[in-house]
Amino acid sequence: MISWDKNEKVRSSVLGFIKSGRIPHAIMIEGESDDCKLQLALYIAAAAVCDSQGSPCGQCKNCHLASVGTHPDITRVSAIDGKKFLSVAQIRELRADAFVKAHSASHRVFIIEDAHRMNEQAQNALLKVLEEPPKNVIFILLVPSKTILLDTIISRCVLLSLLESVALDNTNSETADKFIDLLLSGSEYEMLKLLTPLEKSRADAEDFFKALSVCAAKRIKASGGHARVLDALFDDTKYYLDLLATNINMPLLISLAVSRSKGLLDK
Ligand SMILES: [Zn+2]
Repeated sequence: MISWDKNEKVRSSVLGFIKSGRIPHAIMIEGESDDCKLQLALYIAAAAVCDSQGSPCGQCKNCHLASVGTHPDITRVSAIDGKKFLSVAQIRELRADAFVKAHSASHRVFIIEDAHRMNEQAQNALLKVLEEPPKNVIFILLVPSKTILLDTIISRCVLLSLLESVALDNTNSETADKFIDLLLSGSEYEMLKLLTPLEKSRADAEDFFKALSVCAAKRIKASGGHARVLDALFDDTKYYLDLLATNINMPLLISLAVSRSKGLLDK
C-alpha cells in the first residue's frame, strides 16, 4: 500500500486546510486502494476532533478515541453486511444523525465508505444535506473514481485524488477500455488475445488490472444496462490483484480473468 502522504499534491492540500483550521464540509477521496483512502479519511477525522488546532496532536482524549476507532463523533458508514448497496434509509438516518450535536469534540465526521455503492436515490438524499450542511459537520466520501457519482454531488465536494498515475496512463486505459468493450460484446477469444501478452510480465498485468478497476468504475455510471456486469468486474479486479500478489501461474491467471469476466455477461 502506498501511503497517502507520499502523494505531494494531496499532502499539501490536506495539511493546508488542517493548519488553517478550515476543513471543507464535504470531501471526496478517490483512489484504487481502500486502505489508503480510509487511512487519509481517518487522519482528517482525527484532525477535526482533536482539541488542538493544526494537526492531530496524538495526545488528547479525542485523538486517543479516534486512534482506537471508538470516537463517538466519528461515524463510518458502509453497506450493511450481505448487502451490496448503501440504502436510502441508511443515508436518511445519517442525515438525521448529522443534525445531532457533537458528543465530545467540536466537529462530527461522517465517513461514507464505498460511496459509489449509493444508488441515485441515496445520492439525492445525501445531496440535500451537502447543500445545506449542519454546522461543524464534515462528510468524507470514499470512491474508486469520482466519475461514478452524480455531478451534483461531485461539485459539492473538495476532491482529493489518490489515483495512481499507472491507472490513468493512456495505454493501460485504452487496453482496459478495449477489454470491457470486448467483454460486453461477448468476444471471449478476442479478450484472450488482448490479454495474452500480459502473461510475460507481472508488473504489466498489475498495471492493467489497476487500470481495469478504474475504467470499470468509470463506466458503471455511463452504461445503464450493463451496470451490474461492470460492478461485478470492478469487484473482480481486486481479486485478480490479490492473486497476482501470490505466486500464481500467469497463463492461468489470464485465462481465469477472461473466462470469469465472460461469465459475468452470462449470469
Ligand atoms: Zn489531539
